[in-house]
Amino acid sequence: MQDLHRLTIHESHKLLKDKKISSVELTEATLKHLNEVDGKIRACMTVAGEYAMQAAKAADKAIGAGKIEPLTGVPALIKDNMCIRGMRTTCSSKILENFIPPYDANVIEKLKACNSVFLGKANMDEFAMGSSTENSAYFATHNPWNLDCVPGGSSGGSAAAVAIDEAIYALGSDTGGSIRQPAGFCGVVGMKPTYGRVSRYGLVAFASSLDQIGPLTKDVTDCALVMNVISGHDKRDSTTANLPVPDYTRALKKDIKGLKLGVPKEYFVEGMQPEVRLALETAIKKLEELGAVIDWDVSLPHTKYALAIYYILAPSEASANLARYDGVKYGYSYRDADTMWEAMEKTKQFGFGAEVKRRIMLGTYALSAGYYDAYYLKAQKVRTLIKQEFEEAFKKYDALVTPTSPTVSFKIGEKTDDPMQMYLSDVCTLPINIAGVPAVSIPAGMVNGLPVGMQIIGRHFAEETLLQLAYAYEQATPWHTKKPAV
Ligand code: GLN
Repeated sequence: MQDLHRLTIHESHKLLKDKKISSVELTEATLKHLNEVDGKIRACMTVAGEYAMQAAKAADKAIGAGKIEPLTGVPALIKDNMCIRGMRTTCSSKILENFIPPYDANVIEKLKACNSVFLGKANMDEFAMGSSTENSAYFATHNPWNLDCVPGGSSGGSAAAVAIDEAIYALGSDTGGSIRQPAGFCGVVGMKPTYGRVSRYGLVAFASSLDQIGPLTKDVTDCALVMNVISGHDKRDSTTANLPVPDYTRALKKDIKGLKLGVPKEYFVEGMQPEVRLALETAIKKLEELGAVIDWDVSLPHTKYALAIYYILAPSEASANLARYDGVKYGYSYRDADTMWEAMEKTKQFGFGAEVKRRIMLGTYALSAGYYDAYYLKAQKVRTLIKQEFEEAFKKYDALVTPTSPTVSFKIGEKTDDPMQMYLSDVCTLPINIAGVPAVSIPAGMVNGLPVGMQIIGRHFAEETLLQLAYAYEQATPWHTKKPAV
């Protein structure tokens, strides 16, 4: 059978279940394709071919014994900030260049329990700080739709890999948009679950009150299938909610007739590409045709503070979280120093890249005595207002619909010298993490040969509503079938 790497999870599952293919065949084909194209895309930080083939054999054995679940035997790529026992986890940083985790992240344990297969680790912005994957300390990833363009970030490796079929699915993490924005730029489905839906145990921390792990997949059905496995309470992450996990695939087939959707005007920002605006308007009209009731005139006035709030809160938390990289406990250690203090200073100086240092300095400043009240505390108060604004909106609407980003992907190098321009590419995604609500980005058009993403935002723990809307839209449009040329 040809082109196995092009399959979705649900298509692979059917073939595996009917014994038409084996996981060894599927994994081999996907690895072969990955090795052929990744020289151009550079989505992978680590390719773990032998490890994957072992896992595929184990999956085939389980299937032979009648033990098959939807992700059994299906090969995935994992963002390089999630720990897989024994597999190098760099976070795309020099400071973790040789870090081999002695344990599995909770999501990895869950995927292993159903014999999913890991092909390796995906490139990302260092410590998930960035929007283009150019902040990787190792190399940039290219957008499969146009190799001169960025794949988005920080989960750019995961998104690019899924778009070009280097993996059947991938995991990413999202602190301010890092799953949805690259999903939008690469034309795949990316979901940031509700804060507390998925355990962060074993995810390298960036900003703990915002970070959330989620799936990047080729279609909405696959997104539901991955959510079914990775969601749920974990006693090692006390921020996970002790709520039952529904079967998310049940949401897919539900009619969207009568669902009330709001279109907040603040997300159609100044400087937005007119073609992206048009694509979004067309997509929202499609949802209307499918029976949703659209209010085009919604206002969420606090949205304009989200970017400023995020760039106080996220760096503050990062400055605390990254203090642990002192050359003593993990990774890179500067050894040629006369004092302990010099060793620590040089470890950070050489171990961290420019953007990471910028965040640590911003955060340390915002948390320092005298500035704490003026910046951090004030930002926390505005965070509450943003959250309340969403809660009010969700009294009236079942979901909100916005662009995922104001533009399609941009050229590699175009924004690297201007951090503010880079930060702006997340204006539509940051408020969602601040409020802790779930959101999904789905393919909703093409502009100049590059994908456009539509973001659907929902109430806390209403991932089902998002999947229901996303699936209805997907089934009525051709975008998810479009593929970049290899
Ligand atoms: N681009 C944003 C940042 O640089 C968001 C990153 C993320 O979601 N991890 O912080």
